[in-house]
Amino acid sequence: MKKRFPLFWKLYPPFLLIVLIPLLALSWYADFSMRRFFIDQTAINLEARANLLKDQMTELLLAEDWKNIDILCNRAGKSADMRITVIQPSGKVLGDSEADPKTMENHSDRPEFVKAMSGETGVFTRYSHTLQASMMYLAVPLLEGETRIGVLRAAVSISAIDRQLEKIHRRTSIGVLVVALLATGVSLLFSRRVSQPMEKIREGAEYFAKGQLSYRLPVFGSSETELLARTMNDMAASLHDRMQTIIGQKNELEAVLSSMIEGVMAVDLEEKIISINHTAARMFLRTPSELINRSVQETIRNPDFQRFVRLAFRDETPREEDLFFYIDREAVYDARSSSLKNARGERIGILIVLNDVTRLRRLENMRKDFAANVSHEIKTPLTAIKGFVETLRSGAVNHPEEAVRFLGIIEKNTNRLNAIIDDLMKLSLIEQKTDKKDILLENRPLLPILKSACQVCQTIGDEKAIQILLSCEETLSMNLNAALIEQAFVNLLENAIKYSGLGSSIEIEAKQMDAEVAIMFRDHGIGIASEHLPRLFERFYRADPSRSRKMGGTGLGLAIVKHIVNAHAGRISVESTPGKGSEFVVYLPCKFFMKS
Ligand code: ADP
Repeated sequence: MKKRFPLFWKLYPPFLLIVLIPLLALSWYADFSMRRFFIDQTAINLEARANLLKDQMTELLLAEDWKNIDILCNRAGKSADMRITVIQPSGKVLGDSEADPKTMENHSDRPEFVKAMSGETGVFTRYSHTLQASMMYLAVPLLEGETRIGVLRAAVSISAIDRQLEKIHRRTSIGVLVVALLATGVSLLFSRRVSQPMEKIREGAEYFAKGQLSYRLPVFGSSETELLARTMNDMAASLHDRMQTIIGQKNELEAVLSSMIEGVMAVDLEEKIISINHTAARMFLRTPSELINRSVQETIRNPDFQRFVRLAFRDETPREEDLFFYIDREAVYDARSSSLKNARGERIGILIVLNDVTRLRRLENMRKDFAANVSHEIKTPLTAIKGFVETLRSGAVNHPEEAVRFLGIIEKNTNRLNAIIDDLMKLSLIEQKTDKKDILLENRPLLPILKSACQVCQTIGDEKAIQILLSCEETLSMNLNAALIEQAFVNLLENAIKYSGLGSSIEIEAKQMDAEVAIMFRDHGIGIASEHLPRLFERFYRADPSRSRKMGGTGLGLAIVKHIVNAHAGRISVESTPGKGSEFVVYLPCKFFMKS
């Protein structure tokens, strides 16, 4: 950019020149006029002198009295302090006040002589080699009637004039210098006065441009600069107000966006993310600053999402789709798109709203699976019952042995149905109570509950000659719902017995661990393969379905345990080695007060 000088440097030099140029011109003109005047005066003086001597010299010339001509030249020259010379028409000098005429060269080539010989008065200024000074010569013709009989020349040194002029010139120069200095100062002050308010306004404008709108310009200078400063201050104040309003609105919008549980992002026509809230960024394990101003294709590398964005750009109508992500876990985001329009209604991009529906979809799937599983679990014994009833009806009833066997099968399946329905009812009851926070908790010692659970399982344990070893301090007590917790312990103990061999042993151990009580059920039975462990607590999930059914299992026991433990704000873990045994640990918080 071309360098621009400040206003001061644009004003000061022209002001100075405006003052100095006329001043110098005036001084030069005064010098010139003075010199002219002196020279004119000298010429007049010389002519007067020459005219005074003219008649006397003409007489002496006519008398050819060369001697007295020279004497008269000397005398007149001395009295008038000038040089007087008389020259014959041939150029020969007859008399001279300053030199011996005999020694003087012929003067016919002197311009004043030539002019005088032509009948006019010749005035010339030149350097005299005879006197070695700058001289003014004035020559008049000496006439006898019409005949030029000689030339009378008067000359005076103009060095004196030059000296006088020099003196005057020196004085006027000092005057000019003083005036010039004064003019310099005055111009400086004047330029400052004009430029300073403008400088301040420029400074202020720079502050405003940098966004410092609370700065105020000083109001001074001429009425125009005052008005300008005031107007700019008003403009800054109103801009400041507007900016504050915009910032306030922006902050409000940002607060709304960042506190939204939905992820929101705006994408421009070049598929660049122009705005994104924290929730949306968190969904991609990023921060908003990592995503803003970057393209969707480059930052969110999910083919489903990229396709969704492409389609959302293609058609104007809003889209909705479930998108599957695997970032740090499997996640399902419900994505909705709509057009992003500016104030003029032109499309400038798309707005995408994301909802994490992973849990919802999982619950929906679980519900679907559950319905299918319940139907399946109920259908199997029902089919068996129906089949054997029909068999009995079509004649088997007449064969007592077969009839007894068939009735036994029908009974077994009825029991199975009963057990399933019993467990389902237990589950739904616990769920209902948990939802309504209607589970009654009271401070109870743990040991009697564990003992009661062992008693319930005594018969089936004895059938397999299984030894149950219980270790729990009598003093261990906590807030719990005894009936539910006993049910959970019974389920765990029943499983341990069911999946253990004859004569095996089971250890139950309860101990305080910091803020929790851990109740551990360890068996030495068949164990569970590791791939089943994550899903073990789902309803109807079985590691070995046929074995479970044979054992009279419903596949709901562990789901019930999990629900009971959750209702106590506890947790459950399982570790198992196939062929060696399993260990289920229930952790219950010591201080848990829901309703007591
Ligand atoms: P079930 O009525 O089939 O026992 P549960 O929900 O109680 O249903 O248990 C789910 C599955 O977990 C069982 O089918 C079984 O495969 C496995 N399981 C539970 N407890 C044990 C255990 N102590 N030892 C081995 N497998 C077990």
